[in-house]
Amino acid sequence: MIVEVIVDVSAYPIDRPFDYIVPDKLETVIERGSRVHVPFGNRKVQGFITNIKEKSDLDMSKLKAIISIIDVEPVITDELLQLSKWMTQKTLCYEIDALQVMLPAALRASYKKEIRLVEHDGIDIETLALFGSKESISYEIFEKAGMLKQMKKYLEQGKFQLDTVIKQQGKVKTITKYRMVQDEELVLSQLNTLPKNAIKQKELIEWLLLKKQPSYTMLELKDSTQTNNHTVKALIDKGILETKNKEIYREINSLEYNDEDHRFKLTDEQQEALTKINNAQDNNEHTTFLLHGITGSGKTEIYLNAIEKSINEGKQAIMLVPEISLTPQMTRRFKLRFDDQVAVMHSGLSVGEKFDEWRKIWRGEVKVVVGARSAIFAPFKNLGLIILDEEHESTYKQEDTPRYHARDVAIWRSNFHQCPVILGSATPSLESYARASKGVYSLLTLQMRAKEQPLPVVNIVDMRAELKNGNRSMFSVDLADAVREKLEKKEQIVLFLNKRGFSSFVLCRDCGTVVECDNCDISLTYHREGEQLKCHYCGHEEPVPKQCPECQSEHIRFFGTGTQKVEEEITKLFPYARVLRMDVDTTRTKGSHERILKQFGDGEADILLGTQMIAKGLDFPNITLVGVLNADTTLHLADFRAAEKTFQLMTQVSGRAGRHDKEGQVYIQTYTPEHYAIEYSKSQLYEPFYHKEMLVRKQFEYPPFYYLTLVQVTHENVMLASEYAKLATDWLRENLSSTTMVIGPTSSAISKIQNRYRYQCLIKYKKEPILVEKLQQLIKIYRTEWIKKGIILTIDLDPSTIL
Ligand code: ADP
Ligand code: ZN
Ligand code: ZN
Repeated sequence: MIVEVIVDVSAYPIDRPFDYIVPDKLETVIERGSRVHVPFGNRKVQGFITNIKEKSDLDMSKLKAIISIIDVEPVITDELLQLSKWMTQKTLCYEIDALQVMLPAALRASYKKEIRLVEHDGIDIETLALFGSKESISYEIFEKAGMLKQMKKYLEQGKFQLDTVIKQQGKVKTITKYRMVQDEELVLSQLNTLPKNAIKQKELIEWLLLKKQPSYTMLELKDSTQTNNHTVKALIDKGILETKNKEIYREINSLEYNDEDHRFKLTDEQQEALTKINNAQDNNEHTTFLLHGITGSGKTEIYLNAIEKSINEGKQAIMLVPEISLTPQMTRRFKLRFDDQVAVMHSGLSVGEKFDEWRKIWRGEVKVVVGARSAIFAPFKNLGLIILDEEHESTYKQEDTPRYHARDVAIWRSNFHQCPVILGSATPSLESYARASKGVYSLLTLQMRAKEQPLPVVNIVDMRAELKNGNRSMFSVDLADAVREKLEKKEQIVLFLNKRGFSSFVLCRDCGTVVECDNCDISLTYHREGEQLKCHYCGHEEPVPKQCPECQSEHIRFFGTGTQKVEEEITKLFPYARVLRMDVDTTRTKGSHERILKQFGDGEADILLGTQMIAKGLDFPNITLVGVLNADTTLHLADFRAAEKTFQLMTQVSGRAGRHDKEGQVYIQTYTPEHYAIEYSKSQLYEPFYHKEMLVRKQFEYPPFYYLTLVQVTHENVMLASEYAKLATDWLRENLSSTTMVIGPTSSAISKIQNRYRYQCLIKYKKEPILVEKLQQLIKIYRTEWIKKGIILTIDLDPSTIL
């Protein structure tokens, strides 16, 4: 028997299956989708079996045999094997990378370099001492000791050998259980022969004889009688007790809440949407629904109902949320409704915890997974429903290889399982809404809040006027007054500091002008080196102006503020307010998000100050005021999605106010109140914004009217980076259709990361049937030639940002 194996080596010529012989004794346990250890070159690596066949087309005598099989049950289902093939085309990744991303980190191999001592003679004492009594030690020991030079010398002389050892990252957690041996007669006879003073042992045996439980933990034994470790060990030695290691799952600690599951009678709108989804479930249709419902309209309630139906029919469901650790309230609702049928997967869990949650899914012990992006690969075998909440969020796109979008994977899997997908959002991505308008997706709309509360009143505050009136503070007079009023009423306040990406644009504080590119309608990016402004779409460059080009004011400069500074100002302005700050600094430790949110929910603070992290999911009845300190930051990013992102954020943040009985108020501070993204935030109506933004996209030829592909080239040497970016761009221009636009090369908005200079080129097209084929050819040139020069080339067929 022969198997085809995709080996764990991401390199160009290796991106194909290799044939291996299956030793006779393993033939019965070999399955597609299992991991194996195989020899590769002179190393041992991990790999995945992707096919089983009788014969190889290659010379059998040259084939090697697999060393061992890691999984008796395959970890990759046949469906996921097919999906990985599709991903290699869709994202231009290696097949091994597609397979790896589907598994929890615990199942990925890590390789350690070890140095083995082959010959003692002629090795200096200091080096020998490193080994102690061992034959092999890790490479790092030499590194730490600063003895790499010696190591290299002995390796060359053949006195050392370098081995690569595969280490498994995750371990199954076990607990030791104790039980009495079956043979009761033996136990009784032992009991009679025990010495008089062995009182504890006697007590324990008698207790066990009475209790007759199948097995016990040490804790249970200790609780029962006066037992201690000593007693237990004595009974094990006498053959009365035996031990067994039992696999257990790690408990994910979460805070205690005293809430309960509410079931509502659905509103007419909710019922109408749910009925359509239920019909698709009944008829096994792979419809993609776009559930467009304003904040608080009860989308989550619909998800819960639809999932319940799937479970009742013996199927499973995937529920994706942008980054679940940020929304413990959401997880709570699922746990309350579905209890231990839910697995939870997000970046806040440890490797071991993720491994356990994954195993619950893999073994079919749970029916629902609530998780962030990678949960889309949950190995369910009978999917009945897939949901992406806040479908417009850019975190659904992976920015590293494989550069997949969870939405695309969801739709692929829904085709496979013949089940519906629900994309939910108050502010859908333009792409999705355009598809729904064309009838590609099926549109479901919720226009009312579930509890019939009105949307909060949104006030736009012109910060230019504040400056004119001599107010240089971050708080406008109106917002400061509103904060004071709410503090007096003991109601809660959310203050939002818009800090997405980096805020490197230049703004005039007098008239609100942001310096833009003449050709592209995109703000220019500030580069500290050389005090230059650059356009990342067309390459235009100009020096930072000393005066505003519109009003000649000298108050023109680079823009940005931090949460810490705001906190100081709050303390000055409102000395009695209790403030909680939530940003990257205060949420570094595990569980801190949840703790801060719980504190706020429990009323331990008056003001919650935060960044993007607080925009979503917050649902507290006492929040009646939301203040956005600086709406402009996202607006002027050098990205065609800047307006869309700003509108989405403003709507999300505003939606935190007045969700329950008390009415909400919102203040949005801005230097550009006339920008349409801000203007439309006032009404929070999506449709008018959508139509306006579509006009802009059409005019400037951006998605969804055109597709974009981003090609980036990086190198430590700026000359080489720019040279090869030009080579790539020229090659593409020559080889792609004449109707396809190849723009660049330009330096990237973030022009240097980790000492590598970044250049890029953009491909814009409506239809380009040869795109993937040509890009694969370019990748081949890169992987066989340019890579030797230290160039890194990356291609993103669906960039969520082009910074
Ligand atoms: P969304 O996900 O659209 O923001 P949610 O599902 O979180 O909305 O609902 C908003 C609030 O309304 C929640 O507090 C929820 O418990 C409540 N809710 C949802 N559906 C109903 C209903 N049919 N009747 C009463 N309250 C509801
Ligand atoms: Zn100006
Ligand atoms: Zn430009």
